[in-house]
Amino acid sequence: MNRGARIYRTNSGSIDKNIVDKIYSEGFPITQYGLYTKREKGYKTFKVAVDAGFSCPNKDGTIDTEGCIFCPKMGRVISVEYCNVKYSLKEQIEHQIRRNKEKGIEKFYVYFYPGTNTHASPEYLKELWDFALSFDDVLGISIGTRPDCLEDEKLDILENYVKEGYEIWIDLGIQTMHDKTLDFLNRKHSSDDVRRVLLECKKRGILVCGHIILGLPDESWDMMMETAKILSDLEIDALKIYPLVVVENTKLEEIYWKGEYKSLDEKQYIHLVADFLEHISKYVIIQRVSKDKVPEEIKISPEWSLKRLRILNEVSKLLDKRKTKQGSKYKK
Ligand code: SF4
Repeated sequence: MNRGARIYRTNSGSIDKNIVDKIYSEGFPITQYGLYTKREKGYKTFKVAVDAGFSCPNKDGTIDTEGCIFCPKMGRVISVEYCNVKYSLKEQIEHQIRRNKEKGIEKFYVYFYPGTNTHASPEYLKELWDFALSFDDVLGISIGTRPDCLEDEKLDILENYVKEGYEIWIDLGIQTMHDKTLDFLNRKHSSDDVRRVLLECKKRGILVCGHIILGLPDESWDMMMETAKILSDLEIDALKIYPLVVVENTKLEEIYWKGEYKSLDEKQYIHLVADFLEHISKYVIIQRVSKDKVPEEIKISPEWSLKRLRILNEVSKLLDKRKTKQGSKYKK
């Protein structure tokens, strides 16, 4: 596949600390992704979420059949119309780029979203990634996957794209850095798998955005703050922070109806996100603080609105009220 000549180098494979410092000097309390990218690039970008039909080794029998307790046994948890295998990959990408260009967005990332998007041979993955990178105005790709599904051979392919000037992100399902909780969630990987991926990606200039859940069963406040510290010390590039959402057709749903798990209420969650941000290094970009792509028809709990801008606004207001900021309680 000929991807043509690269005409823009997007970044050096790491977060620019000068940009972050500038954001704080302007008085912002959180290193928000939108603020950072606007200053880094000078134009608007958008992640085109696509469904390339990947399954998951934790569901298809490769390592287990049960999956994580919060993940539906069948189907996908996403409400983006054109992120759907009923459309070809080409249609998914073209449609979303066209629609967002009409809204003034100039450059794009292709985000391989549902399933474990590295659960295939390196040859197949390279073909897929080459295809995504062949579209005009695509700066790079973002790949949603598990920490135990990124072998060196796959990382080497991604490193070559970085060398060509593409921006490569791994969207890594971490959830927590506590093995006891990972076992309870039936994740079937360990916190050491996360450490390895972070170190290997850092060496190669591949950026990592970790996905973290706050309010997991039996996780104390101290445990959550410890996860913040460990990931900051490991210099993770970005985070998406989510509440634990109970959806239909999951093991968590059974636990919930038995009365063995109760969701955080909105106020508890907002306070917890603010606490977590205070314990995260300011050099970690915050991509999200809520999970609003869950289709309402399968969401059971929590009942409050997960709209991410609303939650982000509430968290920012709370940090201002406390006179604290992201990283104000983080010490290396
Ligand atoms: S790793 Fe991801 S896709 Fe696989 S079962 Fe867990 S949540 Fe679902």
